[in-house]
Amino acid sequence: MTAHTTDSDRLARAVSSLQGLAVGDALGSQFFVPANYTALQIGELPPGPWRWTDDTEMACSVLAILARHGRIDQDALAMSFAEHHDFDRGYGPAVNRMLRQIRQEGADWRELAAALFNGQGSWGNGAAMRIAPLGAWYAGDPVQATHQAEISAYPTHQHREAVVGAMAVAATAAIAADPETCPEDPADLLASVLELVPRSAVHAGIRRARDMLDYGDVGTVAAVLGCGRRTTAHDTVPFALWSAARHLGDYERAFWTTARAGGDIDTTCAIVGGILASCPGGGPPASWTERTESLPDWAVPA
Ligand SMILES: [Mg+2]
Repeated sequence: MTAHTTDSDRLARAVSSLQGLAVGDALGSQFFVPANYTALQIGELPPGPWRWTDDTEMACSVLAILARHGRIDQDALAMSFAEHHDFDRGYGPAVNRMLRQIRQEGADWRELAAALFNGQGSWGNGAAMRIAPLGAWYAGDPVQATHQAEISAYPTHQHREAVVGAMAVAATAAIAADPETCPEDPADLLASVLELVPRSAVHAGIRRARDMLDYGDVGTVAAVLGCGRRTTAHDTVPFALWSAARHLGDYERAFWTTARAGGDIDTTCAIVGGILASCPGGGPPASWTERTESLPDWAVPA
């Protein structure tokens, strides 16, 4: 880890990442508004404000818990997800039901999350979509980022693929967030990530993503890696890491490339935006941030 990292450095980096995540999520979700679709295909921006979705709402809880506890506290995280759960933010039906049960009935997240999908747990991309700011918090310490990301997944996503997806995104953000240790070659960046995550479909997908870094045609890459159409971790995270690794330092190109692949656009763009904005100076254009709905006060401590 870079020497002399203070809590305010961590917080500033994580807030930047969260802002980049929110812009990716909010602008990405504009692709689902039929009236905007043609303009977005040719790179024109729709009028604001762009409203963010569940990806950002959950990432706000991750940041709030890190700021309050200095690490992931699972009970506090589950409670924050439940307290701030807004039904109209596009959550999947299983998580919607679960967060309502925690909030209204005081149900135990451990039992509910473990019971999802006939006891296999969710393998959706929800644990990965919210975690880039945690990687930014642990800039230069990808081992701790990966560990804390693993812990952060369980309150909602207990299937191994969902957990590993979150670990991989956090590892990528933590490496990218420290310019002193971030490899210049995107292939080396993804190789470092592969060393940190266990064998899994997500791992296999990232290996394939690394092999395809020299492909310029995003449609072909998305056809091979997936781009979130199945909303699983393993058809979302490898593609998002491919796009992030190829475009570090260029938020706009990263966004358009990711969005044009289609699929689960708010989530792929939230992951990519969160990773890119974890790098110093790597955030979205100011005009994009201005058009994006503000982050809630509770998420960003003074
Ligand atoms: Mg969403």
